[in-house]
Parts: sequence; structure tokens; C-alpha cells
Amino acid sequence: MAILEEPIKGVPQVKNFIDGEWVESKGEIRDVVNPATYETIARVPISTKEEIDAAVEAAKAAFPDWRRTTPIARSRCLFRLKELMEGHFEELSRVQTQEHGKTIDESRGETRRGIENVEVACGIPTLMMGYNLEDIASGIDEYLIRQPLGVFGIIGPFNFPFMIPLWSAPYAVATGNCIVVKPSSEVPLSQMKLTELLDEAGFPPGVWNVVNGGRTVVNGMLDHPDIEGITFVGSTPTAKDVIYKRCGETGKRVIAQGGAKNFMVIMPDCDVRATVVSMLTSFFGNTGQRCLSGANLVIVGEDDEFYKGFVGAVADAASKIIIGYGLDEAVQMGPVRDKEKKESIIGYIESGIKEGAKLRLDGRENVKIIGDYPETCFLGPTIFENVTPDMKISREEIFGPVMSVLRVKNLDEAIEMANASPFGNGQAIFTSSGKSAREFQYRITSANVGINIGIVAPMAFFPFSGMKDSFFGILHTQGQEAVRFFTESKVVIQRWF
Ligand code: NAD
Repeated sequence: MAILEEPIKGVPQVKNFIDGEWVESKGEIRDVVNPATYETIARVPISTKEEIDAAVEAAKAAFPDWRRTTPIARSRCLFRLKELMEGHFEELSRVQTQEHGKTIDESRGETRRGIENVEVACGIPTLMMGYNLEDIASGIDEYLIRQPLGVFGIIGPFNFPFMIPLWSAPYAVATGNCIVVKPSSEVPLSQMKLTELLDEAGFPPGVWNVVNGGRTVVNGMLDHPDIEGITFVGSTPTAKDVIYKRCGETGKRVIAQGGAKNFMVIMPDCDVRATVVSMLTSFFGNTGQRCLSGANLVIVGEDDEFYKGFVGAVADAASKIIIGYGLDEAVQMGPVRDKEKKESIIGYIESGIKEGAKLRLDGRENVKIIGDYPETCFLGPTIFENVTPDMKISREEIFGPVMSVLRVKNLDEAIEMANASPFGNGQAIFTSSGKSAREFQYRITSANVGINIGIVAPMAFFPFSGMKDSFFGILHTQGQEAVRFFTESKVVIQRWF
């Protein structure tokens, strides 16, 4: 099949967007590499402390007018942005594939969910309403209003470069705050395309700023006295030890979403055909680089025939997954994001072998790429059997296309095993029994629970939460909870004389 046209041409230099202007950074410049072709497709700055300070200053200056802009007028800016995003849907999606490596359909799904968050935030005139009660005492009324706080920092990870900042940004500006977004420096390009659109949508200068870079920018946000709060999505060590800790020290509001290790629990009464298909997208979709990806496949029961049949069907289908450049519409799995990530995943595969797990499908060997691309970042699906809960491959987040198969006697054991994990992001059960599903949903310590669904990504009007080491904070991104995070409730008690 023909390769779709690449939207990023030449090797553009990424700029920052501060106070409504495109500004060249004075920071060090790094290459953005397409992981499929291994070509440099852009250059990104690692911005300086002065540059993040300038963005915060612009956001702070824009805040008084923006908060006085009526909610319906703020919502109109978001409606215009939504229309522009729809008009550039395919371009935005292709940029994600070019910078990240995911398949074009995965990118289209990501674009859609990003747009949905803008759509939900367009409802701000009702989402932001407070409430009141007459006559709390004779002749006295009490009411609650929600107000924006000022400037927020939004920090994104590499795996959903376009969508994840949109779990926060539309709600932050809809509620009347101003923001500084820092995309992952590995994949800044789809955020930059989005920034071009928000510039066109007519947001006043300073309301929505974007500063590219790494730790200096993050530290600049964390230390800045004019930043009221941070939303962060990334790995657990950064979420917990950097973002949550420092926000606590400096008194900032925080949402810090971390890593995961998800269990997919297979009951013998599941619909085998549908469940096998679900396993393929769960474990190998987005090349395993999802916080909701399956990691441990837990087969329940002592029926060896069921076990062999199920794992055999998954392994057989996984070995046929078409690997290549995601702009080829025939491709079902792209490369991992970079060489270092591939090496880290290979390290886990080696540790699984060393600890005695049985390699059923070896992704290091099973890499039949369609098209003429260097193997640098490509890996095939890997499946380990005979995995035990003490092995590193079943405990730690690998963040790649690796499935560890474990066996347990009954549902109780499966739930206990999953609950013993320090993570609690997206666990699922596959069963035709309502009783088993209810039991799993009730007892599992996971914020997102799938019943016959492998990727439990909450819609934009539900919160994207997490439990245990997958989440640090109280309120969550997306929907009504994001509105609450980005506002302070003020209670007024009024007596009429
Ligand atoms: P990461 O923690 O390495 O980086 C995330 C962001 O933090 C980036 O913008 C990066 O520049 C910055 N950063 C990294 N280290 C830092 C440090 N020491 N100090 C200051 N800033 C720092 O995460 P990643 O590799 O980009 O993303 C993958 C991780 O994100 C996985 O663990 C995945 O599970 C997790 N994730 C979680 C969710 C969720 O909703 N819970 C969603 C997507 C991804």
C-alpha cells in the first residue's frame, strides 16, 4: 500500500509560542528523529530558564483580561479551535505518526480524543456553574461560585504527544486561566501544529503559551511563584519524586499521573475469539507504549486445554502483526519511539530469559518489517510464558510490546495478584459471568476497570484517573474534575437589609 504523504517537510526549527508570538529559543538544539525512517525531521530547542520565565510573565499579564472575558466568549475561542482541528484532522494525525511512530489509525484515534476534550470544554458556561441555597437562615442566602486561579503549567509525556496536553489545556483556558504547555522534547511537532491552530483561533496573546524543552523548563515551572498549579503525565519516578514532591513543597495544586503495569484477567468462560482480538490491541497497540496497555496476561483456572488454546491463538495472531512505518495504512504496529527505549525493552526480555520465563515469541527475532526501513527502533511482539509474580518482567513497567503470561487457580488469586502491584491504572477482566465481573470491579485496586474491554481509556467527559503509584493528587484530568482542578470555589453568604 502507498505511504501517505508526510506533512513535516525539510527539517524545521521548532519555536516557542510566547505572548502570541513565535519566538526562537536561545537554548541548546536537539534533533527530532522519525523512529521508522530514522531521519531527522525537525530540530527542537531545550529552552532556558529565562524563556520559561518570559512565558509565565506573559500568561500572568494576560490573566486579568482573560478571566473577565465571559465564559461564552472563551468557549467561542474553543469552538473555533475545534473547527480548525477538524479541518486539519488528517494532517494532525500524520504528524503524530511521523514524530512518534504509531500507526495512522492510532494517531487518528488520538486526534479524535484530543478534539473531544476541546468539545467538552466548550460547555464551560454550564460546567463552571456554582450553586445556591435560599434562606440558609431567615433572609440569608448562600451560594458557591467557581473562579480561575491564574497561571498553570502543563507537562506532557512522549507516548501521546498530541492528546495528553489536551486532557488539561482546554479546561484550564475555558475556566479563565492562562497556561504554559511543555510538550515532550522527543515529540514536539503535533503540539506545534496545534499551536498554529490556536493562534488562528484567536486566543488573546499570553493565554496559551508553549515552551519546548526538558528539565530546565519543568524546574522553572515548579519553582515559579506565579504558577498556581501543574498537571503532569509521565513516568512514576518523575510524577512522584519530582512533580508531586516539589508541588507539595511550594504549595501548588497538582495532578501527577504516573506509570502502570496492567493485568488482563482471562476467565475460562470468556468469549475466546473476541478476547484474543482484544489482547492484540491491548498488549501490542501503540507498540505497547500506553499507560493502559496490557502487561500481564493472567489465565484463570486449571484447564490446560483452555490455557494452550488461548495462549496459542494469541501467539499465532501476534506473530502475524504487520510491522512497519505507520504512514503505510497496511501497518498494524509501528516502531518504539527510539533506540534507547528499544534497548531498555530488550534488557527486560533478557532479564525474563535469565529469570527462567519461557520465551514463546521473541520480538527481537520476529521483526518482519514491510517496506525498506532501518531496524533501529523496530521490535516485534514478545510473549513470555511460565512467568511468576516475583520476576522483574511481571513487576516493572516495560513500556513496550511484551506480554507476560501467568496462571492462577481462581479469580481470588488473580485479584490478589493484581492488587499486590504498586500500580493501579487500567486492569481488565474477560468473562461472560456477571458475578465474576462484579467481584472484579468491586475489589480491584485500579482506577480504570475494563469488563471485556482491554484499553480502558475514559472518554473526555469522564476523569482520567489512576490509583496507587499510577497517580498523585486528588482531582483528575478531563471533564468536570478538570474544571474543579482549575477553579477555586468561593462561598458567599448574603443578607439583604
Ligand atoms: P517521563 O517521566 O520521562 O517524562 C514526562 C515529562 O517530564 C517530559 O515532558 C519530560 O521532559 C519531563 N521530565 C522527565 N524527567 C524529568 C525530571 N527528572 N525532572 C523534570 N522533568 C522531567 O515520561 P515519558 O517517558 O515521557 O512517558 C512515559 C511514561 O508516562 C510511562 O511511564 C507511562 O506509563 C506514563 N503515562 C501515564 C499516563 C497516565 O495517564 N497515567 C498516560 C500516558 C503515559
